[in-house]
Amino acid sequence: MERGQQALLSHFLVSMSDTKPVSPQAADNQSAPGIVQLVSNVKQYFMQEQDLFGNVIYPSSGDEGKKKEPTSKALSGYPDEPWTGTVTLAELNSTICTCQKCSLGATRTKFVFGVGNPNADIVLIGEAPGADEDAKGEPFVGRAGQLLNKILEAIHLKREEVYICNILKCRPPNNREPAPGEVEKCEPYLWKQLELIQPKIILCLGRISAQVLLKTTDSLTKLRENVHDYRGIPLLVTYHPAALLRNPNWKRPAWEDVQKLRKMYDEMKTIKN
Ligand code: URA
Repeated sequence: MERGQQALLSHFLVSMSDTKPVSPQAADNQSAPGIVQLVSNVKQYFMQEQDLFGNVIYPSSGDEGKKKEPTSKALSGYPDEPWTGTVTLAELNSTICTCQKCSLGATRTKFVFGVGNPNADIVLIGEAPGADEDAKGEPFVGRAGQLLNKILEAIHLKREEVYICNILKCRPPNNREPAPGEVEKCEPYLWKQLELIQPKIILCLGRISAQVLLKTTDSLTKLRENVHDYRGIPLLVTYHPAALLRNPNWKRPAWEDVQKLRKMYDEMKTIKN
């Protein structure tokens, strides 16, 4: 690695060093520190496994790694609804922001459409809004969002240059994973966003967003290995910033992922000029 790159990597790791692993609350329980630590470690282990592979509590279905058949809705494209004819992101947002197609419409505070450059070359896609995003109506504004800004800085990109959105536009209660029915209702909005933006590269933040877009059950580890094709657009996958907050050991591979993205983007620009 060149010296310049090494300096950048150190900056990246240090700039993320305020991201202590989220330690399960009980550290101040003085009565049984050994048990508390054990529980904490087990919990941390399962959360790591979930970030990479999904829910490991339940027995394997044997389907892991197989491509899911796209649903008929995904194959036939958009539903027959007025928003499909919108021609700008602002118009799309104002047409869908009162959506009540799933139960999250009733529990959300704000609809979280997306933010950034409407002509962005790079679109980042997360899972679903959390509490901070739900309150503000903007994706990635909490701790994970602050980390995402630092990740972007490490590859010389500003938040305003890219476009950031999620698979779901409304917050699932208690930050649970998106339910299949919610994804089915919400994903067409994302297709339309991408159709309007026409990005050159997509970066999926975390396993869920990649699995939804690529219609696969592959693990995050496997998904990170390749550049995928999403409707003709190259798609890369990296760790979700919230997973990096929990597991600082993944910062280095995340850095490599975003370096790969930067390199790809620079090469695309060179070819164009
Ligand atoms: N996590 C996500 O996946 N998206 C957000 O907007 C915030 C946290």
